[in-house]
Amino acid sequence: MPFGYHGCYLRIDVSSGTSERMPLPDAVLRQFIGGSGLGVKLLLDEGAAHVDPLAPEAPLVFAFSPLVGSPLTTSAKFAVVGKSPLTERINDSLASSGFAIAGKGCGCDAIVIVGRAPELSVLIIEDAGMHLEPAAEYRGATCKETETALKARLGAGFRVASIGPAGERLVRYATISHDGRHAGRGGSGAVLGAKNIKAIAVRGTQRTQWAHPSELTALSRSLSKRSFGPATAKYRELGTATNLLTFNRFGALPTRNFQSGTFEEAASISPEQLSATRSKTRKSCMACTIGCEHIYSHGGSGVRVEYESLFALGSLCGVGDADAVLRASQRCDELGLDTISTGGTIAFAMECVERGWLDKGLDKGMDAPWLKFGDGDAMLRAIELIGSREGPGDLLAEGSRRAAHVIGHDSIAIAPQVKGLEIPGYEPRALQTMALGFAVGARGADHNRSGAYEVDFSDKVDRRHVTLDAVRHAIDTEDKAALMDSLIICKFLRGVLTDFHAEAAEMLRNVTGWDVSAAELRDTARRIVSAKRHFNLLAGWTPAEDTLPERFLTTPLPNDPEASLSRDRLDALVAEYHRQRGWSAAETALQKL
Ligand code: SF4
Repeated sequence: MPFGYHGCYLRIDVSSGTSERMPLPDAVLRQFIGGSGLGVKLLLDEGAAHVDPLAPEAPLVFAFSPLVGSPLTTSAKFAVVGKSPLTERINDSLASSGFAIAGKGCGCDAIVIVGRAPELSVLIIEDAGMHLEPAAEYRGATCKETETALKARLGAGFRVASIGPAGERLVRYATISHDGRHAGRGGSGAVLGAKNIKAIAVRGTQRTQWAHPSELTALSRSLSKRSFGPATAKYRELGTATNLLTFNRFGALPTRNFQSGTFEEAASISPEQLSATRSKTRKSCMACTIGCEHIYSHGGSGVRVEYESLFALGSLCGVGDADAVLRASQRCDELGLDTISTGGTIAFAMECVERGWLDKGLDKGMDAPWLKFGDGDAMLRAIELIGSREGPGDLLAEGSRRAAHVIGHDSIAIAPQVKGLEIPGYEPRALQTMALGFAVGARGADHNRSGAYEVDFSDKVDRRHVTLDAVRHAIDTEDKAALMDSLIICKFLRGVLTDFHAEAAEMLRNVTGWDVSAAELRDTARRIVSAKRHFNLLAGWTPAEDTLPERFLTTPLPNDPEASLSRDRLDALVAEYHRQRGWSAAETALQKL
């Protein structure tokens, strides 16, 4: 067995309350590394592509990596991998902190959960053992309340990942939260809720050894030192929200359900304004030397502010009231809701109301004529209703794609999603390499699995008139993301690593002892992307899914007519992407695995 691994995963059936340690061959570990890569491999082995994601037999994988527990900065991360109840395609969402270290300390490289507990339960895993305890007393509790109560009850060393009320009610974009961070996208929280698991508590003492400890220490020191440099300064100063005003200037800040790329009230929700008007503290995930988390004071407590939350609950809903946006972000965290899908679905509903499509004629009190762009109170009311699945919240809890199918009126053309996953805060018409990244993304529209927006902001392309040259750059960012999510290291290290593949190989060599090269890691990244594609093909993917909603292909941005993306151009980019991937036909993709 290589260093850095335990060489097995823990497979837990919560229907019976039993577990098994399953061996992980060295070859599998080397081919898929950990995190997202190992997660998708285990899902394929479990036959998860054919299963309803909310059925008891649907597996949910918590995957660690060989780097977890090492001194490498930002390496305390885990991936939650399953079939998404929102997209019915592959979903891998990542979160940080002590759960990764304590979970791996239980002597396994991944935890696979199947089944459905007979009652709402807490799954407790400690070193070699596991058991279930009733969780009725935590029903309806927020993620933070659950985590705090369980840590106090179970004692020192336990780390807890939990779902909020939204996960219990199977909201299709419910999160799994730990230590204020979230495995956020794609509805992993609903999968755990469907298993009747309110929380997972882990504590373990089993540590792995490193192959070359002194070289690893030297590399870790160098990386930590470099992580304090200019490449990460913007994240330390203003966090991920740092680019909000720049995006607005570029016409790339999605506004009022992507009807515009500029928001006239952007300044009022900008981090510059938030910093000037309220106190702020900075935090970081465990084992991170960068520290991009910015916690702003709000109503006697603190709210973690990210760009994606500011955009989704601010400009996308036309809300310029910073208090309402912070409160909305806080409530999403408490209820266990993905802020991007929450904001995207509410903004979609707001436009439906504007068009007269959501004010009458729907069953079960689904109408919401009060849901207007710019109304922060209405947005907050919608969030509560989604969390409780009451009235129109029951429809909105399904996400914008399913809601559009109920609302009708060809509203699917304006539902801001790809494969059912709501689009993050990058206007596709103004950032057309990103448009391609969104269209072909295995888990749907996503800025963490494709970093193609970096290409748009470079001199490699003309972001409003991209050509086929952009495709290889988009593929490169997608491959890098797959590798980072499998190693697992934080994306904000990108600018710190001067030769990404060579340095990633050095990390893995020092931890595992493998004689791994940069070239091998390039192949590994492609294998992991192909494995996700393979999963989607088995789950029923069709070529028609690799596209964007009609709006983006027929309507230029009103304030920037040059930002226009035709169906022909996107189709050509997608076809070239498939060609360069070697996926010109579904069968080919299957054969290439
Ligand atoms: S840079 Fe930010 S997201 Fe990344 S590990 Fe550090 S605190 Fe967490």
